[in-house]
Amino acid sequence: MLPRTPIECVRNFGIVAHVDAGKTTLTERILHATGRIHAFGSVDDGNTVTDHDPRERARGITIGAAAVTTAYAGHSLSLIDTPGHIDFGVEVERSLRVLDGAVVVIDAASGVEPQTESVWAAADRHEIPRVAFINKIDHPGADFDRAVLSMEETFGVVVVPLVVPAPSGLRLVDLVHLTLIEPGGRSGHTSSALPSDLVSFASARRERIVEACAAFDEGVLEAFVLGEPISPELLLTALRRGTLSRQIVPCVGGSAKVGLGITHLLDHIIALLPSPLDRAGVHSSAGTTHVPSPQAPLVAYCFKGVHDGYGQRTFIRVYSGTLRRGASVVAGRTQKRLRVGRLVRIFADAVEDLESAYPGDIAAVIGAPLATGETLSDEGVTLEGLDLREPVVGVALELRTSEARNRLAAALKRVLDEDPSLSVSTDPETGQTVLRGQGELHLEVTLDKIRQDHGVEIKASPPRVAYRETITQSAELEVRHVKQSGGPGQFACVVVRVEPAPAGVGISFIDASEGGVIPRAFVPAVEAGVREAAAAGGVFGHPVDDIVVTLVGGSFHSNDSSEMAFAIAGRKALLDGERLASPVVLEPIMQLEIVSPETRLGDVLGDLAARRGRVEKLGARGTQRIITARAPLAELIGYVTALRSRTEGRGTVSMTLAGYEAVR
Ligand code: GDP
Repeated sequence: MLPRTPIECVRNFGIVAHVDAGKTTLTERILHATGRIHAFGSVDDGNTVTDHDPRERARGITIGAAAVTTAYAGHSLSLIDTPGHIDFGVEVERSLRVLDGAVVVIDAASGVEPQTESVWAAADRHEIPRVAFINKIDHPGADFDRAVLSMEETFGVVVVPLVVPAPSGLRLVDLVHLTLIEPGGRSGHTSSALPSDLVSFASARRERIVEACAAFDEGVLEAFVLGEPISPELLLTALRRGTLSRQIVPCVGGSAKVGLGITHLLDHIIALLPSPLDRAGVHSSAGTTHVPSPQAPLVAYCFKGVHDGYGQRTFIRVYSGTLRRGASVVAGRTQKRLRVGRLVRIFADAVEDLESAYPGDIAAVIGAPLATGETLSDEGVTLEGLDLREPVVGVALELRTSEARNRLAAALKRVLDEDPSLSVSTDPETGQTVLRGQGELHLEVTLDKIRQDHGVEIKASPPRVAYRETITQSAELEVRHVKQSGGPGQFACVVVRVEPAPAGVGISFIDASEGGVIPRAFVPAVEAGVREAAAAGGVFGHPVDDIVVTLVGGSFHSNDSSEMAFAIAGRKALLDGERLASPVVLEPIMQLEIVSPETRLGDVLGDLAARRGRVEKLGARGTQRIITARAPLAELIGYVTALRSRTEGRGTVSMTLAGYEAVR
């Protein structure tokens, strides 16, 4: 077992990249360089581990792991898997939430690409410090300086190259320590003093680092002004300050394929990216702040659940306090107590049991029924949520056999536990199972998962939008339910007032009737009737929302009145009241943030207008334009694909529900 790492020596980071930039190769390289895997597996050969390897089982667990831990130079490094697709909004946000820093991989031959842009924007929102790895410098089309420039232009940031390709040959120059790095030797590279022909190249480039650092450190500024030599330590202290305050993005060039620049990248991950102590404390939904102290009350966040042949694992990050094996903790959302039976840390090729996990640690709880997005604590704290986005696009699922229906139910439970930004309901009219998610792509990926991982053959109808309805005026009415056809009759009479309520209120029921007019026992039946009718669908057939229903009076019959009669009167009161109070259909309106290349802006705006979109703000970031807008969800079916084709794949959009508005 590894000794416990001091919290300042913990680095939790994600590797983010456009597809094919080399994220997988770099991850393998890092695990290899840090001694966790012995043979370097190439993605092109598909050889990671042989079939008969005794560690196969452990390896199986690490495949698809949400986080893999390794150790380097006295530090504990956890690599957190970050999906490249912003379209899976919640998943990206969740992984960004638990990491402290990020390594952005840029392909030296292609520069910044669209997926990197969207993850970059998300990392900005989470205030995540970054370093860049400019990969594939061995590639014939590589152009390091152009790649740096493309980062500066696209993101509008100051990029500070620390390790750069030499002007010729597959070699790197370490500008901080002024050394030459070449492939070879047992560790894959050798370091030597800078040859004389590279001295002026290196010192000119080192100037750029010094200039950038002078802004963060008086010592550097002073030495710079006086023309004195500046030590690597002084530079790194200033670079760390600039990186943590997100005013600069240091970058390292290299080749994941050749294995060049990897340890330099690792050195800079340690030197420049934050430890959990450098990040602000997390906030609970009750407004309390939790700081990374092992003695404080426990707060841990479940950021990813994985179910597969190896059982259920829930990946957690401890923010505060100590999570002990065997401890009894409370899951914030369900407020249920559970026991942490087994706690492990996952390495590339091994699973290690833990007695305790401390602030900043990434670990996995085995076997506990935990949904993604849960908070674990001693007293039922919930962390300020990202997971409260309402799923707004739905598909109806069709099944061929009843056997498939049972399997679907099990599969749905799993995918919902893993991803609480999905929901499942039964359409009251058609009886169909409706799966809802954050967007079309989100649903597509979920359906693929159900088909492939759970083996359920389902057909899904095209996405449908969840409409609602409400009233725009007030009305007061009397409703009677009377039936007298022999035997015991039915009698209920209610007088209600219906009024529009502010958005988000739902159905609110107030009893303002005078005592004795309607017996107390029947009032809850009226309320139940009102709520039942609202959920089942109002005059247009959609759920009714945001109405205040006040029971102002009524009458009863001592023999013929019953709870059932009053429930029926309540149902009728809602429907008739709605009819009298100018009902309207409400549609979901999405808040959009669209990133479009300047050259395509006109086209993108024209398309947005045709979709009933309203532009709220037009901003710029480098050569990109950022459009903040609102548009009805009904007009946005297929928008992601349409935007991509309008912008040659460079446009991206993130959508969140802004609210509901009357259909115009
Ligand atoms: P990912 O999609 O970002 O995970 O990228 P991969 O690691 O799967 O790499 C995509 C392709 O780029 C593969 O064919 C790799 O062999 C290749 N590749 C990765 N790193 C390098 C590199 O440093 N140089 C060159 N020339 N190719 C690389």
